[in-house]
Amino acid sequence: MGFLRPLSPDDQGRRRFQVLSPVDQTDTGSFTCASPADVDAAMARARAVQPAWAQTPIKDRAALMQNALKLLIERQEDYLKILISDTGRTEMETRFMEILATCDVMNFYGRRAHKILKDDRPGLHLLRTKRASIAYRPMGVVAVISPWNGPFILSINPTIQAVLAGNAVLIKPSEVTPWSASLVQTLFEDAGFPKGLVQVLLGDGATGKALIDALPDKLSFTGSVDTGRTVGRSCGEKLIPCTLELGGKDAMIICADAPMERAIGGAVFGSLMNAGQYCSGTERIYVVREVAETFIQGVVEKVAAIQLGRDIGPFIFEPQLDLVEKQVNDAVAAGARVLTGGKRAGSFFQPTVLVDVTHQMDVMTEETFGPILPILIVEDEEEAIRMANDCRFGLGAAIWTQDKAKGERMGRRLNAGSVIINDAAVAYGALEVPFGGRKESGVGSVNGANGLRNFCHAQPILTERLGPKEERVWYPFTPEKVDGIKQAVAWIWGTPIRWLM
Ligand code: NAD
Repeated sequence: MGFLRPLSPDDQGRRRFQVLSPVDQTDTGSFTCASPADVDAAMARARAVQPAWAQTPIKDRAALMQNALKLLIERQEDYLKILISDTGRTEMETRFMEILATCDVMNFYGRRAHKILKDDRPGLHLLRTKRASIAYRPMGVVAVISPWNGPFILSINPTIQAVLAGNAVLIKPSEVTPWSASLVQTLFEDAGFPKGLVQVLLGDGATGKALIDALPDKLSFTGSVDTGRTVGRSCGEKLIPCTLELGGKDAMIICADAPMERAIGGAVFGSLMNAGQYCSGTERIYVVREVAETFIQGVVEKVAAIQLGRDIGPFIFEPQLDLVEKQVNDAVAAGARVLTGGKRAGSFFQPTVLVDVTHQMDVMTEETFGPILPILIVEDEEEAIRMANDCRFGLGAAIWTQDKAKGERMGRRLNAGSVIINDAAVAYGALEVPFGGRKESGVGSVNGANGLRNFCHAQPILTERLGPKEERVWYPFTPEKVDGIKQAVAWIWGTPIRWLM
């Protein structure tokens, strides 16, 4: 199978795989899938170290995160080699999507965690004799299950946040790219975090299932819609809180007043970044007829100049290449025209511009995850919004216009997790804001202050300040007390006093 070859099981019956690099199909090593017993042992180690970690002051946790950051910068050239051999992606993409992004997450949350997680003390509008505080307490052990398309950042970003919030973490990375995620465990250990606090469990879907069966206190899952449904069901049965970051079919709308040169560059970058294997990459483009010719011509010129190997890498996972090829061939068979590209080239797919696509073709409705730009000409922005929303996914979207206020108004009408005006593929990197999908693109969100808090249980503690002998609603329920409630409703909410509440 693709870049992963099954080997015969070990003497304890555990599944084994050999991993081949997508760069040149060289053997990069083999691994044994963690069995349910291995997962349980890792869970026990995590449960043993987590309580002391939860007691460690946030500033001390953050100081260790700064150690990890320094170590990552020192080791980046070595890590780069492993990340590239695991994914085949370009040096440029590996540096900014994996290394730079991780440095930023470590520093951003490390420097802010003590503020974001400090107790809230809201004043109480009704129960005025009580004092409230909300403590952000760690969940316990967090499971992180991650995909192959960003194997380091998508494993380490939730881990950094969960650890700063006081949790232990068990990571089950994609079996397709195991070596990238394995770096996360050694990085945390070598930076001085307690042994067992961050552990990587290599394995396939069955190992992921065993991890959920081991009852973590929260699951942070990133992957496909189908697997998301399966793990969501399982978490539902076990009542494990989970965030599901799933697939997308991000629309890009080119208005008649788009800043054309920038829009052309952004459309090409948004569609081809990571060879299209990016959850929130541009997957379909709607261009208003008035500017369609100029836009399409500019896009074709730019895409035709893209060099395989220099600008985009091969496919990380071979079956994805088959899926992309099928979507392009099906579209062409149904009347679409290829203006450039259109073919498989070894383990690459040529960057491809498709026109004369229809709203019904898979290439416009299903996740492609490849370097394809299907462009559909629309009469006006209203038609573009209608088509963009008529989709089962809702991860991201982008709009290009010189009228930024109009762009924002249009953005508020798109059923997408996030909207970008005059740029592409930047939402995950804006750490101040939540990142998550609507519709089938996911449940919950990561990043932002709430992303960090979501690795905690927000525990309110209510303290009575005055301590009278009894409260007005305590037993016995006398006619006077019933009358008191009636009067309270009338006096407070039936009069202007309610404006003070
Ligand atoms: P996938 O769903 O095949 O696998 C994701 C992870 O789930 C892997 O680690 C896999 O081993 C594990 N898994 C599989 N079956 C499981 C089971 N039954 N129980 C528990 N774990 C199981 O996804 P993929 O092909 O690795 O990744 C590509 C997909 O991820 C694309 O759809 C992409 O859009 C999506 N993605 C989404 C985001 C986001 O933030 N929304 C980010 C990156 C990728």
